[in-house]
Amino acid sequence: MAGDTHWLADNWAQVRRRVDAACREAGRDPAGVAILPVSKTFGPELIRAAVTLGMRRFGENKAQEIRDKAPLLADCGIDWVMIGHLQTNKAKEVARLASEVQSLDRLELAQALDRRLQHEGRAIDVLVQVKTSTEPSKYGLPPEQLPGFLDALRSYDTLRVRGLMTLAIHSTDPVEVRACFRRLRELRDQAIAQGHDIPRLSMGMSGDFPLAVAEGATELRIGTAIFGQRPYPDSYYWPEPSARI
Ligand SMILES: *Cc1c(COP(=O)(O)O)cnc(C)c1O
Repeated sequence: MAGDTHWLADNWAQVRRRVDAACREAGRDPAGVAILPVSKTFGPELIRAAVTLGMRRFGENKAQEIRDKAPLLADCGIDWVMIGHLQTNKAKEVARLASEVQSLDRLELAQALDRRLQHEGRAIDVLVQVKTSTEPSKYGLPPEQLPGFLDALRSYDTLRVRGLMTLAIHSTDPVEVRACFRRLRELRDQAIAQGHDIPRLSMGMSGDFPLAVAEGATELRIGTAIFGQRPYPDSYYWPEPSARI
């Protein structure tokens, strides 16, 4: 283990405490809210330290990072979760190495993943990423296309659709942020009413998770609050006009 990682244990414990507090505030059972540590930009040494603290699933935003880290951590039994925009030409790596994709947002990608997964003889869990904010170029399926998309996904046996994922608007106004999370919950509830078994809601990050808990998140994607500030600005991950700084 690299150096002193007490700070990581402290952050991890503190995040869990803050999530539990948000659950109490919302009248929810903390057992119903999982934390997905987001390890993007951090190296294998730190992830190994996180594994010794009990973390086993890690969210990554880029297929290349999963490809680079997975072989170095093959002994750790990690489940890699793809949470970032995925180009179809990277579907092969993800089909080989990831246990789950939360950023499924178009049929072309479903087709590419399915083809690669058939080849690998595997099936994976997927969440459909929905665009719930009005920001111009954030990735995700337009909400009005969700019913048709979920119906179309029924024909891919390698993709087990488990729920929905979103990124809220980047705003200091909690009302606007919370409206994104509420939108995702309502879309999930409508889809369930239409016969889709998709209970999971992946929403909420370091800066906005209490609002996501209040709106029914079953899973929070937390990077900074666990691992600290990233060496790159988030504009590296959201290369678009409204990029988070
Ligand atoms: C980086 C990232 C997160 C975590 O963000 P933090 O603010 O560091 O908690 C969550 N979701 C996605 C898609 C990300 O790329």
